[in-house]
Parts: sequence; structure tokens; C-alpha cells
Amino acid sequence: MLANPPVSTPEQARQSGKLLVYIQGNIHGGEVEGKEASLIAIREILHGDKRHLLENQIILFLPVYNSDGNDQMSDNSRPSQEMSPQLAGQRSAHGYDLNRDGMIIDTIETEALYKNLVQRWDPDLFVDLHTTNGTWHGYSLTYAPSYHTAGDASPSDYTAEVMLPAIRQSVKDKFNLDFNWYGGFDYRDWPPTQLRTYHHAPRYLTNNMGLRNRMAILSETFAHDRFYKRVHAANVFVNEILEYSNAHASEIRDINRQADERVVRQIEEDAGNFQNGVQFEMVALEEPLDLLSYKYIPYTDEDGSTQFVRSSEIVEIKGVQNFNAFAATKSSTVPVAYVFSAQFSGLAAKLGQHGIAVSTLQQEQEFAGESFRVDAIAKQGFVQNNHRNSLLEGEFEAGRQSFAAGDYYVAMNNRLANLIFYLLEPEADDGLAYWNFFDDYLEAELVNSASSEYPVFKVLER
Ligand SMILES: [Zn+2]
Repeated sequence: MLANPPVSTPEQARQSGKLLVYIQGNIHGGEVEGKEASLIAIREILHGDKRHLLENQIILFLPVYNSDGNDQMSDNSRPSQEMSPQLAGQRSAHGYDLNRDGMIIDTIETEALYKNLVQRWDPDLFVDLHTTNGTWHGYSLTYAPSYHTAGDASPSDYTAEVMLPAIRQSVKDKFNLDFNWYGGFDYRDWPPTQLRTYHHAPRYLTNNMGLRNRMAILSETFAHDRFYKRVHAANVFVNEILEYSNAHASEIRDINRQADERVVRQIEEDAGNFQNGVQFEMVALEEPLDLLSYKYIPYTDEDGSTQFVRSSEIVEIKGVQNFNAFAATKSSTVPVAYVFSAQFSGLAAKLGQHGIAVSTLQQEQEFAGESFRVDAIAKQGFVQNNHRNSLLEGEFEAGRQSFAAGDYYVAMNNRLANLIFYLLEPEADDGLAYWNFFDDYLEAELVNSASSEYPVFKVLER
């Protein structure tokens, strides 16, 4: 942690009134550029000419987040990268991709990150440094904000529409490097008409921060640049993010705090009467993009089919649709609270790992709201991070339900309401149900019955 004057507790950090920025590298152990870039940035701040970056902010650096993956050094673990170090670590940590664990928290790394860093220090801006093996675009680095889904839109919108374009321009002006939106395209449709990003789900840590009303940036250096260029691009990005956040510290804090207040106010004024998305699709931003890409040249193969060969020339393709946003395809009513039986103590503990307050009923109480009748559990056909994810099929049914003293009550009138909603909605495309949390319970019920009741009740009336 870098602070001037130094701080040693979250309370001191809060009292300083400064912005808190968290920068992590190496969540994927083989993607070593962020680690190197972070260490350079630390040296430049402590011993170089970047001391001013501590005027309005406190910076938490974690150069190696996935220490197990980082230490699993092997030959040629990043074979498609130009002039990579001979030895690099592995993507996963003891069998888990740490950047898919943001909701279910299977790993000690995510548990510790949430407990010791996200909840204790509450960073306003979370930066996650990667290197992609994907598309041969013509940029030195591509980025994405925390994608807005069920969260408050303003931290995400500010990151995407104000902060990142300003950083992109300063990088161009100062270093003549081209940075732009993250995404891929199919070169067989040359010239490409669409750039498409990765995914909105909050299992990715940067997206998870959006549900907490905080800003986040995903950074991907370009695998096919030489190693020193990748490190340089990542270092330039870290420096320019920090220049921006230092210059706009109070603005960033205010946007996040206003989002906190808006989330609470909306619950208090309107819970039970409005909906939020639980499933999403990728959509294009209004503004198209002029895409820099290595040029692909078509030729006819011996069998008469059209193939493409990549040239070394970088060209600009005008007016490419930029699929870097998401829209809800299914929505659900946002409740006053969620209630569940005392037998689900594991669920209360899981919510606690996210920093969500769970209380117990002092006496028997009846609630008006909705239960969800599960008719079937559709299992995904592939394994993701050691799970075969579940999609619950069924219907909400209005009704009243009594709960006993000792049963669990999760109030929504707090700043984590959108995270609670995404975790507990039965049809959420990245909630706890999707991560198999309720499978054992629901499957046991479905053995003897045509339907089963999702064990979390939605309270819609105060
Ligand atoms: Zn990565």
C-alpha cells in the first residue's frame, strides 16, 4: 500500500478523505505483464517522478494475486506470445480460474480478497491486469469497464464514457500508443463489421465490483506484442489510470457514494414495484468504432474454399459495430427482503463472505411476496470452473409464507442490494442457483414431486 502520509488501517484511510485505488496483476498466473508493470509503477512512485500520484489517493498494489499459479512455472506456458519469458506460471490456481469465482467463492483467494480487501478497504476503483491470447487487433492494449447489468449504471457509465476515453487520449498524446475497447472478431468475415466483447457476468471480478457500486477496469495487453512492449503498455495504462484518478479523485468518490445512496433510496421508496435484469444479452453501443487490425488477405485454397492469411500491415476499418454493452432479456421484481429457513445456514454464511448482512427473525412472522416453483433444472452441457451450471426453470407464485424464530432475513435496504439480488434470484444467469448451490436440495425434492420450491422467499410488501 502506497500512501503519503502513510496509513495503516482502513479507518485512517477513510479519515484521510482520499480515493482508494486497487491494482492487481497475475490473477491468471501466466499473464505476467501486469505484475511487472505494477512493480515498475511502485518504483516510479517511490523513487521516481510520480510522487504526486499520492496527493489525492491511496494505492493498493497486489502484483501477484494468484500466487499458486504464478509459482507453477513451466516451459512454454504462453507459447503464442512473442519473446515471452521462457518460464511463466499457469492460468489457474489449484484447479480454479480465479476470475470465474466472483459469485460462488469456491477458493480461499476470493474469500480473502473480499474479506480483507474489498470489505475492509472498499476500493473506489478496482483494476485487473491481464494479457489476452485472442484476436490479432492492432492495439497495444484493450480495456473494458465493469459491465453494467443489475447494478446502478453510473459508476460503469462514468468509467466507459468519461474516464477510459480520457485515458485513451492521454496515452495517445504522451506515448503514441493505441488503446481501445476489448473485443474479438471473426477474420473469416473480413473486413469485420462487429467487435464483440467477453461477458457481463459478475463471476468476473471487475463486473462484480459494479454490483457493489464501484468502478473497475479490465486491462488486456496484446499477446502478440513483444514482452517489453506488453509490459510497457500495461505500465503506461497503470500510470495514466492513476494520473486520471488522482486528478478526479473527489468526482469518482462522489459518483460511487451517490450510487450507494440511490440504491438504498430506490429500495426504500419502491421495492416490490420495480424490476431489474436477471439474464442479459450483448448489445452494440450507439457509437461505432474505427477498428485497428492486422490485415487479413483472402486466397483460394486448393479445394476451392476461401481462406485468409494474416499480413503484417495494420489497417483501420471504419464504422465497426461495438458490442460492448448488455441489455436485460429477462427481469424480475426487486424485493424488500429475502427470507429463508434456518436449515440453510450455509447460505447465510455464503452471503456473509460477500459482506452481506444477514439477520435472524426474533419471532414467528408472516410475509407477503413470491415463491419460485422449480419445474426442472437444466444443466449446462459443459464444465465451467469445476461446475456444471444449473438453470432453474419454473414460475413465481404470489402468496404469503410464515417463517419461524431463527430463520434468516436479508434486508435489501443497503448499498449491496443489487449484489444480493443477483446472488439470490432463482433465474439469475450467474447467481448462487446457477453455481449449483441449491441443486442437492431441489433435486431431492424433484425425485418424488413434479415441482420443488426454491428455498428463498421474496418479500414484496413491507
Ligand atoms: Zn487473463
